[in-house]
Amino acid sequence: MPRSRPLRGRYAPSPTGDLHVGNARTALAAWLAARSSDGAFVMRVEDLDPPRVVAGAEERTLDDLRWLGLDWDEGPDVGGPHVPYRQSERTRLYRQALRTLEAAGRLYACTCSRAELRGLLSAPHGPGTEGPPYPGTCRDRGIPVEIDVDASARQRRPALRFRVNPGERVEFDDAVYGETKQDVSADVGDFIVRRSDGLFTYQLAATVDDVAMGISQVVRGADLLHSTPRQILLLRALKAAVPAYGHIPLVLNASGERLAKRTRPTAIRDVRDAGVSPERIVGAMAHTLGLLDRSESVKARDLIEKFRWKKIDREPWLLTRDAVMELGS
Ligand code: GLU
Ligand code: ZN
Repeated sequence: MPRSRPLRGRYAPSPTGDLHVGNARTALAAWLAARSSDGAFVMRVEDLDPPRVVAGAEERTLDDLRWLGLDWDEGPDVGGPHVPYRQSERTRLYRQALRTLEAAGRLYACTCSRAELRGLLSAPHGPGTEGPPYPGTCRDRGIPVEIDVDASARQRRPALRFRVNPGERVEFDDAVYGETKQDVSADVGDFIVRRSDGLFTYQLAATVDDVAMGISQVVRGADLLHSTPRQILLLRALKAAVPAYGHIPLVLNASGERLAKRTRPTAIRDVRDAGVSPERIVGAMAHTLGLLDRSESVKARDLIEKFRWKKIDREPWLLTRDAVMELGS
C-alpha cells in the first residue's frame, strides 16, 4: 500500500507586536489540525518588513504560544531541516523564485507611483481593502527586470509584478469556508512580488516558504482567504503542489471590528498578567471555535482528539476585553 507523506502544518506569526487572542486562536486551530493528523508543526517567523518588526516580539510570541501549551518540531528557536525559519534570512530563496518566474515569462517591472503600491507588503485584510485591480499600466512597457538588487541599498527601483493570465480561474476547497473561487485577473490584477524598495511581498515569501518547507496544510486567519488564490497562481507558476487550506474566522471586538493593534485587542500577555490560566483561555478559544460545548478549562493537548474541521464555526467570535479578563475570576 502506498504510504502517504505525513502532513506538515505551520503557524507563521508576524512579530509586529504581542500575540492577541485572535492570533492565539488561529495558532491553536493550526496546531490542532496538524497534531490531530499526526502531522509535524512548523513555526515560521514572518519578519520581512523591517519597519513593522517590534524588538522582542518574536521571543514574546513564541513564549506565549508555549505558555498556551503548543509546541513545534521546527522553528527559529529549535532549528530543523529547513533552517532558517525567519523570512528575513531567507531572501536568497525568494530571489531564486523570481528567477524561475522570470524564465517562465511571468514577471515584469512596474514604475507606477508609490501611492499605488502602498500597503502591499503587509498581509492584506480581506476583500475590499486593497483598492481596485491593477490596470496593467506597465504590462507591455518592457521595462528591464532586474532580479539581483540589494534591498539594503534603500534605493528606489521598479517594482516587480506577477503577470496574471486573463480569465485564469482559481478554485479551492477551504476546510472551513468550502468551495472558494476567484478570478484574480478581474479582482486583483497583476500583483507585486517585490516592492520598489526591494522588499519581497508577503504573497511571494509565504508561498515560496510553504513550498520550500514542504507545508501540506495551511491554516491561517480568514483575513487571508482573499490572498489564497494569488498564492495558488504563484504555486502553479512555480510548478509546486497546492496545499490544503483552512481559514479560521476572525475575532471581532464589541463594535464588530476585527482585532488590530489600533482597536486595542486583548493580548495574551495581558491575560497572563491578569492571572488567567492557560487552560482557561484555551478552553474559551476552543469553545468559540466549536470544539467544546462550553467554556471549560482544558489543556491544549487534550483537545487533539476532539478536533474535526466540520466542527469549526464560521461565525466570527465577538469578544470584549472584559469577557476575557473575567476568565480569571
Ligand atoms: N504572517 C501572517 C500573519 O501574521 C500570516 C501569514 C500566513 O499564515 O500565511 O497574519
Ligand atoms: Zn506600473
